[in-house]
Amino acid sequence: MVKRKEIKYYTKKDLDRIPQLSNLTYDLIFGLKLAAKVFPFRVNNYVLEELIDWENIPDDPMFRLVFPMGEMLETQHFHTIKEAVEKELPAGEIKKTVQEIRYDLNPHPDGQLTANIPLIGNEIVRGVQHKYRETVLVFPSSGQTCHSYCTFCFRWAQFAGMSNLKFATDGSRRFQEYLRHQKDVTDVLFTGGDPMVMKASKLKTYVEPLLSNEFSHIQNIRIGTKSISYWPYRYISDEDSAEILKLFEKVVDAGKHLAIMAHFNHWRELDTDAAREAIKIIRSTGAEIRSQSPVLNHINASTQVWRKMWKEQVKLGIVPYYMFIERDTGAHHYFAVPLTKALKIFREAYSHLSGLSRTVRGPSMSATPGKIAIEGTAEINGEKVFVLNFLQGRNPDWVKRPFFAEYDENITWFNELRPAFGESKFFFEDELNKILKRKALEEKLVG
Ligand SMILES: *Cc1c(COP(=O)(O)O)cnc(C)c1O
Ligand code: SF4
Repeated sequence: MVKRKEIKYYTKKDLDRIPQLSNLTYDLIFGLKLAAKVFPFRVNNYVLEELIDWENIPDDPMFRLVFPMGEMLETQHFHTIKEAVEKELPAGEIKKTVQEIRYDLNPHPDGQLTANIPLIGNEIVRGVQHKYRETVLVFPSSGQTCHSYCTFCFRWAQFAGMSNLKFATDGSRRFQEYLRHQKDVTDVLFTGGDPMVMKASKLKTYVEPLLSNEFSHIQNIRIGTKSISYWPYRYISDEDSAEILKLFEKVVDAGKHLAIMAHFNHWRELDTDAAREAIKIIRSTGAEIRSQSPVLNHINASTQVWRKMWKEQVKLGIVPYYMFIERDTGAHHYFAVPLTKALKIFREAYSHLSGLSRTVRGPSMSATPGKIAIEGTAEINGEKVFVLNFLQGRNPDWVKRPFFAEYDENITWFNELRPAFGESKFFFEDELNKILKRKALEEKLVG
């Protein structure tokens, strides 16, 4: 039996109160404090006490997962902010410097801000993104934080207070109104932040209405969460743990598929007693757990890590789902891995595992046109190319139509890809531009 635990949070104001940090070098702490000015920072007692290996700092992947470090800042940014701090500039000046650096880090990647937000009549539906026909993302307003923050998170700008939660649902729950009429939608994915930071009573108000007859087209309810990694006690000993599990059972009893879309970056997150207990408890409700993660330099950019992670997941009854390429935002220069390396890791892990692990797809880039997987490389008529494929497309008809880009072993993101065979554009580009133009026009009309 796992002992109970009560959550205690630490933010950048509390850095000096984290006992485990007292043994680290001055340089490390200094870098950490500078980086924590730019990137969001929050950690809890479980991560500090059970997840991080304090004998292995700074290389421990669990440490790098949550603690910003000097190296995560680009050199010129590091020096700018170091200078500002050393000169003891007024707080307002430092804040301004920090904000300028943040704007330099592509805080809102890939048109997330506007291109996916739907309308009812002339009004935007707050807290909803609808990019792919079958699946709607919902961002509950009370779930826009996490049990701990990841240093690489592509939603970092939101946690750094840069987006005023304009993605989150408002009190009107118009998203339900929207979903009621979208009969093509089969999946609702609650995401954040982390929806599992919400109290059970709150989560219920989002989930339960979808169980009624008017939402019979919604077959699958998904919850995107890193709670199994960062706060497994959510399912074990929080005061509303039992209520959470009851809610999960209720969804399953209503005949829907409940998918916990768990975010695991490293097998270490599966390796504590509490995480294993949480996985067992969640599965006992009839919910399925699927897993996804980006490939991250300095954290999991190794075949061994992925092989072991997928193997462990399958053993624990978790279904490997997506391997992602890290988006071009935040500390991208630190975490980015070339597409060729991600592909190599995928192949070398995947090819050594049984079919039960081969449910996983990727490595995939969530970019403006869709989710694009690098299927492999090939030589065609003497030209070395990437073979690419849409796993999801803004137009569903783009899916499973292999296309080709010039091979380049240094490329780390979609926007660097060039069409192969001397072609001037990819097959979807004209249509994508039309779709985006139409969206922009709609928005203008709405004001
Ligand atoms: C990944 C993603 C989804 C879900 O896609 P599935 O392939 O069904 O898991 C939905 N909406 C957006 C915007 C996404 O990026
Ligand atoms: S838990 Fe998810 S949303 Fe929260 S910081 Fe980590 S990656 Fe981002």
